[in-house]
Amino acid sequence: NKMVYYFGKTKTEGKGKSKTLIGGKGLNLAEMTSIGLPVPPGFTITTEVCDAYYKAGKQLPSGLMEEVDKAIATMEKELSKKFGDESNPLLVSVRSGAAVSMPGMMNTILNLGLNDVSTAGLAKATKNERFAYDAYRRLINMFGDVVMGMDHHQFEKAFDKIKKKYKVSEDTDVPAEGLKQLCDEYKDVYKQHTGEEFPQDPVKQLELAVKAVFESWNTSRAVRYREIEGIRGLLGTAVNVQSMVYGNMGDDCGTGVAFTRNPNTGENKFFGEFLVNAQGEDVVAGIRTPEQVADMPKWNRAIYKELLEVKKTLETHYAEMQDIEFTIERGTLFMLQTRTGKRTGIAAVKIACDMVKEKLIDKKAAVMRVPANDLTQLLLPSFKPTARNAADVLCRGINASPGAAVGKLAFSAEEARERTDAGEKVILVRRETSPEDVDGMNAAVGILTSTGGATSHAAVVARGWGKCCVAGAGDVEIDEKGRKIKVNGKTLGVNDVISLDGTTGEVMLGEVETQEPKLSGDFAQLMKWADEFRTLAVRTNADSPADSKRARDFGAEGIGLCRTEHMFFEPDRIIHMRSMILAQDEKDRRAALKKLLPFQRKDFEGIFKAMDGLPVTVRLLDPPLHEFLPHEAAAQKDMATELGVKPAEIKKRSEALHESNPMLGHRGCRLSITYPEILEMQVRAIVEAAINCAGRKIKAMPEIMIPLVGTAAELKLLRGKVEETIASTIEAKKFSGKLDISIGTMIEIPRACLTADDVAQYADFFSFGTNDLTQMTFGYSRDDVGTFLPDYLHQDILLVDPFQSLDQTGVGQLVEMGVQKGRSTKKDLKVGICGEHGGEPSSVEFCHRAGLNYVSCSPFRVPIARLAAAQAAL
Ligand code: ADP
Ligand code: MG
Ligand code: MG
Repeated sequence: NKMVYYFGKTKTEGKGKSKTLIGGKGLNLAEMTSIGLPVPPGFTITTEVCDAYYKAGKQLPSGLMEEVDKAIATMEKELSKKFGDESNPLLVSVRSGAAVSMPGMMNTILNLGLNDVSTAGLAKATKNERFAYDAYRRLINMFGDVVMGMDHHQFEKAFDKIKKKYKVSEDTDVPAEGLKQLCDEYKDVYKQHTGEEFPQDPVKQLELAVKAVFESWNTSRAVRYREIEGIRGLLGTAVNVQSMVYGNMGDDCGTGVAFTRNPNTGENKFFGEFLVNAQGEDVVAGIRTPEQVADMPKWNRAIYKELLEVKKTLETHYAEMQDIEFTIERGTLFMLQTRTGKRTGIAAVKIACDMVKEKLIDKKAAVMRVPANDLTQLLLPSFKPTARNAADVLCRGINASPGAAVGKLAFSAEEARERTDAGEKVILVRRETSPEDVDGMNAAVGILTSTGGATSHAAVVARGWGKCCVAGAGDVEIDEKGRKIKVNGKTLGVNDVISLDGTTGEVMLGEVETQEPKLSGDFAQLMKWADEFRTLAVRTNADSPADSKRARDFGAEGIGLCRTEHMFFEPDRIIHMRSMILAQDEKDRRAALKKLLPFQRKDFEGIFKAMDGLPVTVRLLDPPLHEFLPHEAAAQKDMATELGVKPAEIKKRSEALHESNPMLGHRGCRLSITYPEILEMQVRAIVEAAINCAGRKIKAMPEIMIPLVGTAAELKLLRGKVEETIASTIEAKKFSGKLDISIGTMIEIPRACLTADDVAQYADFFSFGTNDLTQMTFGYSRDDVGTFLPDYLHQDILLVDPFQSLDQTGVGQLVEMGVQKGRSTKKDLKVGICGEHGGEPSSVEFCHRAGLNYVSCSPFRVPIARLAAAQAAL
């Protein structure tokens, strides 16, 4: 197999190849070269070589270095420089680049090819000694870091010493002489810590660097990032070797990173930062404070104009917002990278809608382009303006990733992870973040840094996750050891709460009240397009009029699951529920249930009203009765007093109700089999509510759902009871109008799927309860899965948590079977899903393929499900 793909004037071999083969960076370098953008020539070593490297026990495959030599020869010819030359050396960068971009996960080495002799040569050739030694010290530092795994503080110490000696604070103010000394110091540091001399042979340097990039694929932080992002099945990383251009040769040079549109808001305006006389990562690392690209005309108008042209070329070519890296060498612009820009959900929606208006894409593409889950960010809370106005603003940083976060201070990634796991809400406070921190960043509700800008590591990662981040808040003095910050004369510690506004960059003292989001015009537009394409209906899981209304505002087309048990927990009701449970006979039970009836009826009226004209699936009582009894002795005593019975009686009943496996116990339809009076009360409440609504011209469409059915006989019996109750209630109420009530079942026991053709005889509809179905198919207790699931995920036994994302290969087969068998009995059987999976995009896609009529999910996920359903249909 070909191992090396060249890009340059001579040829662009990677053009049109796959990202999985040459990585995203390599592919885009080839593409940019081929559309005429100024890209320094170079070549890409494939991901297959990375795979081969690991398979051969960390050995580069034979023949690789020969192919590399050939590619270098072509570069040398194009540039009239020679690799390792003593007077005019060709220098290269060695860059990683996997199929998916992993910001900051892999390390880049710049200026490779320099040694003692060629640095002197470079100084002469460029007539710029300072530049040459600056390049050399960077190489030794990066090589030590990346290839030899040295701690970069060791280099920093040496640099600080030199800066002190020359009485300067900025790197750029150190004179050539100082940098020359620094190179010697660095070589000493290198030798001290590695036991070897810094390698002087450029080919040796290159070989070691290539290996180091391969190694970085499997560092724990890279592995963890892939885990968090769910990136799987890749061979490894590609390596890009590219001729260097220099942003650090003087004040007509510079380097920058930018987005072709604003990644926070989506506004169609060039957005980014650059630094004059700097190289590589200086901008991202937050070493100096960068300037805004918008201010570039003041420095060099021609380059700014050229960048605007590049924006146009790239956006026309890719029809996508791009994230670019560029360098200016003595007034000439070079492009070093482009990729699809990460953006917030808000920006994603705006950019998609704008690009349709600009005719860059059509509305199908717009719908496909917004990751359904990212809508969460548009649905996120923000701070109440009144509360924010009144808030004590401690300081202001850069609004790096929008959102509102309220939490206590955590000072390290581990601490953030631990305290989050223990149930706290924390904000991770760091000087700057590094890739090692990703786990803690993921755990924290928000991130605050005291250095770095909108393209710093913290900002990029936080935006990718839709996590609130304020960066570069320079007024925050962090005392990591003492676990304190000092800001604006105040000292705050681990138990103090702050509020971060990622949209404005404000850091506020204490807990500032948040509010629900308002949905913008672009959002509504995108949703409208999504609705045009989708065939799957979207309902919501809601048990209160308020939730029902909110879901309806989000576009829910009905309620797919109204859980009735939540209604019984309110203080004025639980007492009747408990006396029903304590009742010795049917008569007493009925008496208690009678007291619950008006409450239920009122609840249903409220919900029917909120969903006027839309179906409402009401599930009859599902949990085991013991869930309604108190378990602690003290609470049992209180209950006894309240009900006027002896505590011992409660204890006795509670013990009698005890089950070894409550989830597989006396619950669901089994309760109605034993105590049909519970079913009767609930059905009566539903019917009376519907009748009352009819009287007020509200169209109620209840669908009565019987849970946990495993045999057709259960449903046959209970359906009969429901029908009888409906009839008797109508008669008792002397109602003469028409009611639209259907009766169906939840399919959540594997046996119900296997015998769905039988079950369907007694069901007007099926609704897959995939939470229980997953539990029973895997045999994993939903409540205990946390004890072993992490191990399963870690060891790749499971790729995702099956309770979050429907297991299509296993549980999915049962769903498919249920649909198919059910419809073999009743051709038009209405089928939906009401498990947590109903709002998870990949599960929604599955439901579409399986031919379901609707999905049902929590109110906030309704827009996500609508978009995911459209994407599934396209
Ligand atoms: P990352 O994976 O962090 O994006 P890159 O491979 O893009 O790493 O390298 C980081 C930075 O190094 C680039 O943004 C660019 O500024 C600098 N760089 C990489 N290659 C070159 C080059 N050939 N010439 C000049 N600068 C380079
Ligand atoms: Mg880059
Ligand atoms: Mg269930």
